[in-house]
Amino acid sequence: SGALLVLGLAACGGQGAGGGTDTASEQPKDLTIGVAMPTQTSERWIADGKAVKEKLEAKGYKVDLQYANDDIPTQSQQVDQMITQGADVLIIAAVDGTALSGQLQAAADKKIPVISYDRLIRGSKNVDFYVSFDNYKVGVAQGKALLRGLGLENADGSKGAKTGPFNVELFAGSLDDNNTSYFFRGAMEALKPYLDSGALVVKSKQTKIEQVATLRWDAETAQKRMENLLTSAYNDGSKVAGILSPYDGISRGIITALQNAGYGTAASALPVVTGQDAEIASVKLINDGVQSSTIFKDLRLLAVQAVTAAEAFLQKKTPEANDTKSYDNGVKVVPAYLLPIHTVFKADVTKELVDTGFYTAAQVAAGK
Ligand code: BGC
Repeated sequence: SGALLVLGLAACGGQGAGGGTDTASEQPKDLTIGVAMPTQTSERWIADGKAVKEKLEAKGYKVDLQYANDDIPTQSQQVDQMITQGADVLIIAAVDGTALSGQLQAAADKKIPVISYDRLIRGSKNVDFYVSFDNYKVGVAQGKALLRGLGLENADGSKGAKTGPFNVELFAGSLDDNNTSYFFRGAMEALKPYLDSGALVVKSKQTKIEQVATLRWDAETAQKRMENLLTSAYNDGSKVAGILSPYDGISRGIITALQNAGYGTAASALPVVTGQDAEIASVKLINDGVQSSTIFKDLRLLAVQAVTAAEAFLQKKTPEANDTKSYDNGVKVVPAYLLPIHTVFKADVTKELVDTGFYTAAQVAAGK
């Protein structure tokens, strides 16, 4: 009977779900999905958590949703607890993409499938699926948006009316987030010809990702760095014309630093500042002509993909991937479902964000 038991377990391995129990015959109400989100300081993660929870609950599943205050030990503990409390599937947006290996091994030991949400979990074979947007394309779109904002390129990528040279500064996200390097490499691909030709000049000479990264994507950290850049590289009366920013929170920190230094007046226009996530405060700034652009990622679709993948695992099926080669986490290539992205300038706000029901016109006007 020992041998039979081993066989039985093996048969339920692979795509098997649900703490080793026979979930196929269980009702949704008997199944719990653990959802681990990084932080509530950014509105996108609040919306992500809410959407995933609502969609799972609408299908009858139980949901254990936790936020980690951007703190690694807190998130490890939360995931540990989900596992001991019998989660049947885990959906995780990691604070630090490499810090959960122990938890993931515990999940694998209990045959709990793990879905990496938006941020790829690195360095573990126990990641079963990845749902995200095309993160490299996000970066390219951010680079292109900077070029377009400066007038170096038109919307269709053709040569714009301006030739530069323009002073620009670069910001990247948190180095422990797998997405950060995708965003930055994508953006640099778009900017490279202009940096090479001299149409763009990084006056601070800070162009390496380690020099321009922003720990935990923190707005104040970015504001400080912008202040330092202005007092060091621009203390000779020269002006900065463009900022590559990877995320709307960081963009707002940068804009605050620029405004405090006297930019944004009739005498001195604000530089072109990019962004990401279409956070409502930034959408208002775009509408008001303060921030130049953002990248809109429809989180409603991401939540649907996460729920679809979770349900596939619970039904012992393989979730449908549309990319099986781009996301190597250092140990394996994780099958992924990647969603499209949308660049939003002022002229696009209504079509992309209001007509799609993501925000109301009143929210855009109020910025909240
Ligand atoms: C997400 C971005 C977000 C950033 C900061 C990244 O992993 O992909 O959408 O702006 O984290 O929260």
